[in-house]
Amino acid sequence: MPADLQPALPLRPELAGLEPYGAPQLDVPVRLNVNENPYPPSPSVVADIASAVAAAAGGLNRYPDRDFVALRADLADYLLRESGVSLDPVQVWAANGSNEVMLHLLQAFGGPGRTAVSFAPTYSMYPEYARDTATGWVVGHREADFGLDPEHATAIIAEQAPSVVLLASPNNPTGTALPLDTVRAVLAAAARVPGGCVVVVDEAYAEFRRAGTPSALTLLAEHPHLAVSRTMSKAFGMAGARLGYLAAAPALVDALRVVRLPYHLSAVTQAAARAALAHATELMAQVDGLRAERDALVDWLRARGLAVADSDANFVLFGVFDDRHAIWQGLLDRGVLIRETGPDGWLRVSVGTPEETAAFRAALVEVAGL
Ligand SMILES: *Cc1c(COP(=O)(O)O)cnc(C)c1O
Repeated sequence: MPADLQPALPLRPELAGLEPYGAPQLDVPVRLNVNENPYPPSPSVVADIASAVAAAAGGLNRYPDRDFVALRADLADYLLRESGVSLDPVQVWAANGSNEVMLHLLQAFGGPGRTAVSFAPTYSMYPEYARDTATGWVVGHREADFGLDPEHATAIIAEQAPSVVLLASPNNPTGTALPLDTVRAVLAAAARVPGGCVVVVDEAYAEFRRAGTPSALTLLAEHPHLAVSRTMSKAFGMAGARLGYLAAAPALVDALRVVRLPYHLSAVTQAAARAALAHATELMAQVDGLRAERDALVDWLRARGLAVADSDANFVLFGVFDDRHAIWQGLLDRGVLIRETGPDGWLRVSVGTPEETAAFRAALVEVAGL
């Protein structure tokens, strides 16, 4: 075809030149860059997942249960055990990762002419959900300690009248958990928005929270405009399975059922997730150890004079470096991959096995001359 007849691709102008989101996936010995659980499932968990998937495979000529009723009941059971909050399965929703759950929220409650609000620094995927659903995007700020000032949050919500507010708690990349009083203040401000406003508390890292830090699940009963998002990707050690979920009032969940693609959760995913949930106790056995490892890492970094954000997650944000890229590259040259993210000068490292964390510490001593 002559060059002048090459048809153009009608790419949406706001997507022109954009790179797909994602941390580098590099094959190095120590990977501490995407907050995965470093422990693979045990042989007995692997065997149970394999036989559940084999059973599902026998029915793959049929579409899966599009309301995944059994999985929702299992997730409600898990949340009861984990947070002490009792939920009906119709209050639970799931999708291929909590990223898809949050996209469903923006598809149902965002859209053209509407606005979503969050507070930076926070999860870098949030503006992408807004962009992909043609929802306006407004960011407020977090304080110097990465907490959220309720007055600032209330003022932005009053001024912007958003239809969605996204709060990560514990926050990524800072590790900061929000006190429930702050979440309550945001819920109260959202309740005053004409036309309504849904508050999403993204608790992807909730299982790592320190003792005494409550979950926003405890606020669900009184707040029909609250959605609490969770995932099996982090503490649960199932990032490869792609299963995220949320808890909310039944009417909110019903709205998400309208926007989901038909049969979005494959029979294989449902079977694997249910088999893994049956092993929740075993899969979560590593969480206490990871928490202790995190607290020790925070102390170690502070003892070397670095600034470190308090963390309720399985990662630590530390700094402040004049040239953070040089530190990141120096660590990578020593086989340790961390994440160059967060405010200028800061870096984020996931908590790994004791051996991986030791390798990180040794490399950092060399690279940063601590
Ligand atoms: C990792 C992460 C998620 C989880 O994403 P999945 O799609 O469930 O794997 C959600 N929110 C935040 C803030 C995260 O860091």
